[in-house]
Amino acid sequence: MSNIAQEHDTQEQWTRVKGRLRSSVGEDVYSSWFARMDLEGVQQQSVHLSVPTKFLRSWIQAHYADRVLSCWQAEIPGINRIDLTVRSAVRCAPPAREAAATDTRRGDNGARPAAEARTPAAATTAAGHDALGGSPLDPRLTFANFVVGRSNTLAQAAARQVAEGRRGDPVMFNPLYIHAGVGLGKTHLLQAIAWTGNASPDRKVLYLTAEKFMYGFVAALKTQTALAFKEALRGIDVLVIDDLQFLQGKSTQAEFCHTLNALIDAGRQVVIAADRPPADLESLDDRVRSRLAGGLVVEMGSLGEELRLGILRSRVAAARVHHASFDVPDQVLEYLARTITHNGRDLEGAVNRLLAHSKLNAQPVTLEMAEREVRDLIRPQEPKRIKIEDIQRVVARQYNVSRADLLSSRRTANVVRPRQVAMYLAKTLTLRSLPEIGRRFGGRDHTTVLHAVRKIEALVSKDTALCDEVELLKRQLQE
Ligand code: ADP
Ligand code: MG
Repeated sequence: MSNIAQEHDTQEQWTRVKGRLRSSVGEDVYSSWFARMDLEGVQQQSVHLSVPTKFLRSWIQAHYADRVLSCWQAEIPGINRIDLTVRSAVRCAPPAREAAATDTRRGDNGARPAAEARTPAAATTAAGHDALGGSPLDPRLTFANFVVGRSNTLAQAAARQVAEGRRGDPVMFNPLYIHAGVGLGKTHLLQAIAWTGNASPDRKVLYLTAEKFMYGFVAALKTQTALAFKEALRGIDVLVIDDLQFLQGKSTQAEFCHTLNALIDAGRQVVIAADRPPADLESLDDRVRSRLAGGLVVEMGSLGEELRLGILRSRVAAARVHHASFDVPDQVLEYLARTITHNGRDLEGAVNRLLAHSKLNAQPVTLEMAEREVRDLIRPQEPKRIKIEDIQRVVARQYNVSRADLLSSRRTANVVRPRQVAMYLAKTLTLRSLPEIGRRFGGRDHTTVLHAVRKIEALVSKDTALCDEVELLKRQLQE
C-alpha cells in the first residue's frame, strides 16, 4: 500500500476510534477532554496520541486510559499500549511593547519578572481606568472554603490549575468555561481564581461581572477612552468574567469578541461562567459561541446531600471564628442538608438565620428551632434542567431514527413526526426561544418550529396514543 493510502487508512481508523470514544463517554465528557486529542502515529502494538496540555494528559491517563485503549483495540486488536504525550504548546510571543520590556529583565536569571517590571504603559492606563478596578471580591470565596464533591470535582480541578498557573507557563485550556444553575458555586470558584492568582506578584487577574464589562465599555466609549480601556484590558494575565449570559448589546459583544480573541491569541487565560453552555447563549453570535466552546467547557451539577453537608459544616466553622459559642449539632446539620436541596445560597441563608436566632435569643440551636427557622427555605425539588440535545437523543431513540435524521432536511414521514415532537418538547420543556430551537434543529426557521409546536399541541389533544407517547418522553427526560 502506498504511504498516502496507508495514511488515509489510519485517519479513518482514528475517526472511528473517536466516534467510539464519543459514544462511550458521552458528548460532554468527550468535548471537554478528548476534542483536542490528536493522533501522532500507530505502530505495531502501540498508538501515539497527543494533547495540548499536561493537565489534560494526566487527567486522561488517570480517568480514561483503559477506555481509550479498548476503543483502539476494537479497531486494531493487536494494540496493547497507548502513549500519550503533550504537544509542545508555548504561549504566543508577547506583544512588541512587552517584548522590549522583557529584555531589561534578563538579568535575573530568567526568574519571573517582579510586579514593578510591568510595562509602564499598561500600568498607567490600568490605574487610570475606573472600569478596570474589577468587581469587588468577597473574602470568603476562596479555594480553602470551596467544598469539593462529585458534581464539581472537575470544575474545581480546572479552576485550580488556572489559578496556580504562572506567567510564562504553557496555557492550559482557553477559555475555561464553567456553567451551572443558580447558587451552585460559579461565582465562588471564579473569585477563588482571582484571589489565588492575585496573591502571586507577577500576575494580574481581573474579575469582572459581564455587567461591569458592559458598563465599563459603554462608559469608556462615552468619555472617548475606549482605546485606553482596551489596551488596559489586554495588559492583564487572566480575565475572569462572571454571568456571561447578561452580556448584551451588539457593540459590547463585538468588543467582547475582540478582547477574547486578543487575549487568547496572546496566550492569556480567560475564564468564564454562565448559567448555560456556550451553545445556548442565544444573544451571542456564532463565532463567539464557537470560540467559547473551543476551550474546556465544564458543567457543575446540583449539590448532592454530602456536598451540602460539607458546605454547611464549612459555613458553621467560619461563623465560629467570630462567635465561639455558636454550635450546631450534627443532627441539625444533617436535617438541613437533607431538606434544603435547592442551592448554596439557601444553605448559607440557613446558617445565618440559626446564628442570628441563637445570638439574639441566647439559645442553643436545636432541631426544633431549625425546623421553624428554615421552613420557607425548604422548596420543592427544582425541576431538572433539560437540554435540547437530551430531547433529541431521547426522541431519536424512541422513534428509532438517528439524531442526524432529526436535524437533517429529510421530509419522509418517519422523521417528520419525531422531529416535530422533539421541537414541541424543546419548546415546552426548556426556556429556549423559537429561533434558538430552529437553529439547534439544523438551522430551521422559527416559523417551522412554531408550526411543529402547534401541530403537536393539536394532535395530543385528540390522539391519545400520541399523547401517551409524549408523556412518556417527558417522564424519561425529567427523571
Ligand atoms: P452561583 O454564582 O453559581 O450562582 P455562588 O458561587 O454565588 O453561586 O454560590 C452560592 C453560595 O453557595 C455561596 O455562598 C457559595 O459560597 C456557596 N457554595 C456553592 N458551592 C459551594 C461549594 N462547593 N463549597 C462551598 N460553598 C459553596
Ligand atoms: Mg454567581
